[in-house]
Amino acid sequence: MQPRDLSATNPYVPGRGIEEVARDLGLESDELIKLSSNENPHGSSPKAVEAVTDRATQGLHVYPKAAHTDLTEKLAAKWNLASEQIWVSPGADGSIDYLSRAMLEPGQSVLVPDPGFAYYSMSARHHHGEVAAYDLSKADSFAQDADVVLESYDGERIVHITSPHNPTGTEWNREEITRLLEAVEDHTLVVVDEAYGEYSAEPSSIELLDAYDNLAVLRTFSKAYGLAGLRIGYCAVPTEWADAYGRVNTPFAANELACRAALAALDDNDHLEQSVETARWAREYLAENLNVPTVESAGNFVLAEVGDAEAVAEQSQREGVIIRNCTSFGLAGCVRISCGTREETKQAVETLNEILAEVAPT
Ligand SMILES: *Cc1c(COP(=O)(O)O)cnc(C)c1O
Repeated sequence: MQPRDLSATNPYVPGRGIEEVARDLGLESDELIKLSSNENPHGSSPKAVEAVTDRATQGLHVYPKAAHTDLTEKLAAKWNLASEQIWVSPGADGSIDYLSRAMLEPGQSVLVPDPGFAYYSMSARHHHGEVAAYDLSKADSFAQDADVVLESYDGERIVHITSPHNPTGTEWNREEITRLLEAVEDHTLVVVDEAYGEYSAEPSSIELLDAYDNLAVLRTFSKAYGLAGLRIGYCAVPTEWADAYGRVNTPFAANELACRAALAALDDNDHLEQSVETARWAREYLAENLNVPTVESAGNFVLAEVGDAEAVAEQSQREGVIIRNCTSFGLAGCVRISCGTREETKQAVETLNEILAEVAPT
């Protein structure tokens, strides 16, 4: 017995967990600074934690029905959409799957950024789709615009764009997004991934859903709301095909605690503002103080060109600062450093600059 041919799909390589690394190094978790997975250094919204605790105490024996409906309605009101336009899912990753299910016939293709988020292509392949890529050019500071995509576009069924982009931090502006929406063929869905949207000053593409029916926008509670461990996100879609959700979603995949936490987090402006403010400070601090070239970032992380990324990431980890070697993104020579608290970020810069002075850039 063997599974189907999965050789085209590379396993997803996550940033290493803090407990794993601590165990390897013989340290306690609190002696390490984890800046490898773009997580929220302020933790979860306290209101969300309270909601989870309350709900857990009341029991978890019923399916998440009311919580899912309440969250859908609250998000619809937030974005001024109809409830059916909000597809709640286990993380934004879950929404990527729902869009693949809703759109892809076997053998149809998706167009993804390279470098880029690995799950776009994984999801397409899970759904018997093919994958093509458009290149973000390092020489052009990974700039993103319609031409960069259209150069490689060949009538694919789905085009994935990421704004702000992971791992480069570059973003799209409104004009270029509408240019892309208008340039692609009628059967092409443009998916705008706004997993880091809260950290950006650009308006959300959700506002364009009234005018375009070939657009879907991804959002998550994993980053700015600090709920990565609960797996909760959503997709906003146009009314024209919003009812497909009922046919493609995995029943009750967004769990009760996650929905309750997300509902509470939406009412926690203090936590959100603090998270965004810290990230904006930290990305500036990293760009100004790291002794290597960095890419201007609109997210909660910074891409830095360090030369021997593997050696730098390994040495940094040994010294208690976990960062992401971007070789798995196809960016040999670069590391991605998530924004920590002010204290963590300063410590990371000090550690990295010492290492960079020792490990000669290649
Ligand atoms: C983190 C991230 C996501 C979503 O993550 P979930 O935890 O599944 O919500 C989506 N896209 C990009 C580019 C990301 O970095």
